[in-house]
Amino acid sequence: MGLRIDGNTKIVGIIGNPLEHTISPMLHNEISSMLGINMVYVPFCVEKEKLEEAISGLRAIGVVGFNVTAPYKKDIIKYIQDKTKGSLLMGAVNTVKNIEGRLYGYNTDAEGFVRAFYMHTGDKFLKKKVTIFGAGGAARAIAVKLANSGVSKINIVNRTLQNADTICSVVNDNISDIAKAYEYTYEGLVDECRSCDILINATSVGMFPNDDECVIQSKDIFNKNQYVYDIIYNPSKTKFLNMAKDSGCKVMNGLGMLFYQAIIAYEIWTGHKFSDDELKKIYSLLDSMY
Ligand code: NAP
Repeated sequence: MGLRIDGNTKIVGIIGNPLEHTISPMLHNEISSMLGINMVYVPFCVEKEKLEEAISGLRAIGVVGFNVTAPYKKDIIKYIQDKTKGSLLMGAVNTVKNIEGRLYGYNTDAEGFVRAFYMHTGDKFLKKKVTIFGAGGAARAIAVKLANSGVSKINIVNRTLQNADTICSVVNDNISDIAKAYEYTYEGLVDECRSCDILINATSVGMFPNDDECVIQSKDIFNKNQYVYDIIYNPSKTKFLNMAKDSGCKVMNGLGMLFYQAIIAYEIWTGHKFSDDELKKIYSLLDSMY
């Protein structure tokens, strides 16, 4: 990385805790080097009780913006002056832009998911029937985005039914009455899932080092015409994806989502529009990190 810092260098970064495993600094700094943009991306590991102070400090020193990761994607909202309607419904902000001391909040996770899906399949979500496993922060962002993208039905299957119900209320009350919550024990779940066009694992089950775990036990939920998406990217093929692949489904992992959420954040901060060639180069760089 040809990193060079001088008196004109702009600063972006990421707030979270812990941050040891984040690849965002490497990715963003490589992008700036590649584009010749004089900007550096720094990790800011912040303790919970110092969050407000850290945000004031970043505003005071005039950073261009910053990403927000676990555990602060919800907590950050109260410190942001301008939030998109999408990020409010998603209940999470992962990207902040600082314009003359005013903070603007965005959620690029779900947009990243949608762009990655399109890049991989060339298909769109209009009128598709979708099942999402999980009802955490990522599932909520994806459900809101898909509801706004014209899907015909969203099933949310979750261990804790109440969390699935919350997401369904957000979607049904604010966008369109298309979401329904299920528990894994629901008798008709296999048939319900098999009749879907798209299945998405948005739980953390199957993530490294628990590669042998899977959120569902039966391959019968799959049909060979489905797209099956796991937003986990480490390992690159979870047990969930391997089961889907064995059933003849088209599968994709979470690397594309990770890639595009970073690209969209970079676009928000700098206004740079990436060419297809640039996107290909950056994606292969990210791919080589896994
Ligand atoms: P989160 O808010 O903590 O939600 C975790 C979800 O997993 C909850 O629905 C939880 O169910 C469920 N879960 C956890 N353990 C379970 C188990 N043993 N059995 C059944 N369900 C279980 O996390 P998140 O932020 O939504 O992230 C979820 C996953 O997506 C993580 O692996 C994360 O790394 C990945 N992710 C990837 C990207 C990307 O760019 N590719 C972006 C964001 C997140 P309960 O509600 O019952 O607790």
